[in-house]
Amino acid sequence: MPLDFLKRRHGAGEASPTVAPTAAAVSLPEEIVAQEYQLKLYFAGKSSEGVRMKAGPNALAELPSMLAGMARSEIEVVEPLPIEFSQAMPQIVRPSEAMQWLNAHALHSPVTRHALSVLESLDAIDLAFDTVCLALLDGETDTSGYPEYNAVVGGIASHWDEGTGDLICRAVVGWGGRGVRGDTDRIGSKMLGGLLTNILANQYALGLTAIERPVPAAGRGGLVCAHCGFASGHERAFYCPKCGMRLLRG
Ligand SMILES: [Zn+2]
Repeated sequence: MPLDFLKRRHGAGEASPTVAPTAAAVSLPEEIVAQEYQLKLYFAGKSSEGVRMKAGPNALAELPSMLAGMARSEIEVVEPLPIEFSQAMPQIVRPSEAMQWLNAHALHSPVTRHALSVLESLDAIDLAFDTVCLALLDGETDTSGYPEYNAVVGGIASHWDEGTGDLICRAVVGWGGRGVRGDTDRIGSKMLGGLLTNILANQYALGLTAIERPVPAAGRGGLVCAHCGFASGHERAFYCPKCGMRLLRG
């Protein structure tokens, strides 16, 4: 059987009863005509310096007020994700990560989902420890409520400083999609400045500070906050990413 197969293959160049007579006449064209397909996605974002806030239970509740005069949509607060969503990513080709992301954010508004998708893709926010407060800041949405590519979204991102336990707030803005416009960057900078001004004007603001993002180490995680019951997926969380109280180890 294998020999018969080889024999047939050997004579493949010549016409045989099993091959259509025209097959031998087909030759490769000198130039291949290709249909071209291309999609360019462009995402961009900006993040300000941090502002240290007086620690306390009231600090987190202040976040939405920092978008006063700037939000052009409903303001939504997104809290850090618990450990069961620690793999969540806005990437549809990774079904397990995408499913976690959708389950975590399906109930948010289109503006918030767009903002999270842009800012997370850029690594401008990390929901392992950031609490974010988001809205549409400039531009329009489509008929389904999703921001256009040149609409600027963003707001305040905050996390609890691992060294001092203080709440650190920063302004974040982002935009993007199928297109890019020259003046969006300038508008983004303007929005970032407005948000930072609002943070600094807050009654709990202590002043600008360098931002040291808590870097998660591999391995553990899953510490449960004794105060609010939040199960953190973030390994180095001395302070509960959700309520800011000191986590008890051991
Ligand atoms: Zn807590």
